[in-house]
Amino acid sequence: MAEINTLSSEQLMHLEDQHGAHNYHPLPVVLSKGEGVYMWDVEGKKYFDFLSAYSAVNQGHCHPKIVGEMANQAQKLTLTSRAFYNDVLGEYEKYITEYFGFDKVLPMNTGAEAVETAIKICRKWGYEKKGVEENKGQIIVFDQNFHGRTTTIISFSSDVDAKKNFGPYTHGFIKVTYNDIDALREAFEGQSNIIGVLAEPIQGEAGVMVPNESFLKEVAALCKQNDALFMADEIQTGIGRTGSLLAICGNCSCEGHCEKQESYVTPDMLILGKALSGGVYPVSAVLANNDVMNVITPGTHGSTFGGNPVGSAVAMVALDVIRDEKLTQNARKLGEIFRDRMRNLINKTDLVQLVRGKGLLNAIVINDSPNSSTAWDICVQLKENGLLAKPTHGNIIRFAPPLVMTEEQLHECCDIIEKTILAFEK
Ligand SMILES: *Cc1c(COP(=O)(O)O)cnc(C)c1O
Repeated sequence: MAEINTLSSEQLMHLEDQHGAHNYHPLPVVLSKGEGVYMWDVEGKKYFDFLSAYSAVNQGHCHPKIVGEMANQAQKLTLTSRAFYNDVLGEYEKYITEYFGFDKVLPMNTGAEAVETAIKICRKWGYEKKGVEENKGQIIVFDQNFHGRTTTIISFSSDVDAKKNFGPYTHGFIKVTYNDIDALREAFEGQSNIIGVLAEPIQGEAGVMVPNESFLKEVAALCKQNDALFMADEIQTGIGRTGSLLAICGNCSCEGHCEKQESYVTPDMLILGKALSGGVYPVSAVLANNDVMNVITPGTHGSTFGGNPVGSAVAMVALDVIRDEKLTQNARKLGEIFRDRMRNLINKTDLVQLVRGKGLLNAIVINDSPNSSTAWDICVQLKENGLLAKPTHGNIIRFAPPLVMTEEQLHECCDIIEKTILAFEK
């Protein structure tokens, strides 16, 4: 173990290749250090991070306050299980429920677990509160969704790789076209068994698909009309990423304490993960009000690590950092600049078709077939030029730097992207 840092990138990639399951296809770069918006590989080369671990590192790499709190708590108490109380969880639960404006939270660890938790709560609510016949409840999901990797979640995936040969699948889901409110209305028609709608406010994995301005509000309204729960999966979009505290907040940087209540869509369940811990520790959560959350009683759900003192302490500081450093506002401002720069680039090249996104969750679409390796090749070249990003869905490149980036750094990054893409064409 001790000599691992003396191995070269080639040797380290070989180790992963030989001894690890091949469930990812990483860009060929081996990282050993991170700080703020930067990461360094084992040979000491410095990169701008333009992925932020899929938006888990919104607060920047190794944020000293977050890492400091983790170290501090880890030396006092790490895990009690929920068989006993611990002296951090209650404080965290009060903090996060006030931060996002819900009565209660159910703490878990990973995003997929939180989505599973929301589905379970929704079903129990459907049978016990809505009065749907047991085992008949249906949840509406959207085409091209990404909600994680468990057996139930992949049962309603549109991604062949994620789904094929993992059956038999879990029943009880109806898939509807994203951003098509008429399709959703039709799905509700004549159906009394629909208990919930699970949606990403922006579909990140699908390629940063931003719905129409009114879509989420209409989804929430249809849920209300039909006595179904609106579950917002903000695991990737939440916590400042899109230039508002939550993507469902729309164009509002009120940090969740909105005076213009009409612009704020309130889901019945809010699902958080990723940046909830600033990327230092797996922490996820489901937030809901009492009428929904109270269907959960002792023995009906749980997790050994969920709500542990380290995760709870880390999450409070991670949310502090978002507010104290005004990262939501920064994401909004830099997002505008980024998309302007990309539109400017599009005018100079045919290689990029369009840019879309919100705040610092953006993507460019490469003018080539989704089966081509062009987007991948561009990402390899970006890496050579000191910027790390990853294609999603073939010809789309997602750009999502840590929200602690400065305007000057962003311009430097845009210069790298522009230079790389213009050189690529030749
Ligand atoms: C990443 C992600 C998940 C899954 O989170 P994990 O921690 O990887 O299980 C679920 N939903 C969305 C929208 C995500 O981006």
